[in-house]
Amino acid sequence: MFIRIDKLQVEMPLPNEPDPSAAAAVNELMGGRFGELTTLNTYMFQSFNFKQREKLKPFYALIANIAAEELGHIELVGAAVNGLLNGIQPKGDAAFADSFGTATMAGPMYHINGGHGVLPMSAMGQPWRGDYIFNSGNLVLDLLHNFFLENGARTAKLRVYEMTKNPAARRMLGYLFTRGGVHAHAYALALEKLTGVDMKKMLPIPNIEGKTIPESLPFMAEGMHRRLYRFSTDDYREMGAIWRGEALDGSGPLEITDGPPTGGPQYQQEGVASAFIPDYAPEEILEIAQKLYAKAVG
Ligand code: MN
Ligand code: MN
Repeated sequence: MFIRIDKLQVEMPLPNEPDPSAAAAVNELMGGRFGELTTLNTYMFQSFNFKQREKLKPFYALIANIAAEELGHIELVGAAVNGLLNGIQPKGDAAFADSFGTATMAGPMYHINGGHGVLPMSAMGQPWRGDYIFNSGNLVLDLLHNFFLENGARTAKLRVYEMTKNPAARRMLGYLFTRGGVHAHAYALALEKLTGVDMKKMLPIPNIEGKTIPESLPFMAEGMHRRLYRFSTDDYREMGAIWRGEALDGSGPLEITDGPPTGGPQYQQEGVASAFIPDYAPEEILEIAQKLYAKAVG
């Protein structure tokens, strides 16, 4: 089961102005082939279907715990897209479509179906697909897939990073690079324990170190590239049998922190009355509610 904390995993200032092109690029990291919905659901379903979990506890704990962290990552990407779409209004005589920019297929989706927020789709507006999930039931194969998936996701993030200079988008990318690097390393260590093959020698993929991304540096300074967070009150301690040793960059020991990161507040955003969000004349909703209440109390 899950307990929800109404915070974002990292503090993210609300952007000063809308940037719909950046929003569409970042949306790839929600619902694209290598987006957070794919990592989340792959690890989640692998944890649902895990057999002999008592005997194989460190591996089960690792996958189940990383799945919980990925829930926070989809929330973060969701917030980032909302932030980048914040404040979009029709400009003068221009239609909404122009306000969302014409360079993206995702713009009409945001306006027509998305409440001016994130949708489970790629940068091109294609829906996320359940068959992006991989769960063979073979532990080595599943961990190998997870290792591949984290590095595929890292590649996608690097490319999205190059597609936008928006500081809010890049701050979130800096955080997700750092966390994705930890997950790739963790799956490499799990495979090494099982097979003896030193997968971490392949890292990083692509061969670009985290410290070359300026937006990753504040998170690395806090040691986040060496840390697994334990997203549970009492469970998943056994992953410590896998997550031990040295950071890949030699900066210190691998660590487990009990509990989630400190994080930051959720966005508080204004509505868009001209798109009926939450309605054309929000005061009417209040009036209706008051009338219903008066009737109810008779
Ligand atoms: Mn992630
Ligand atoms: Mn990950």
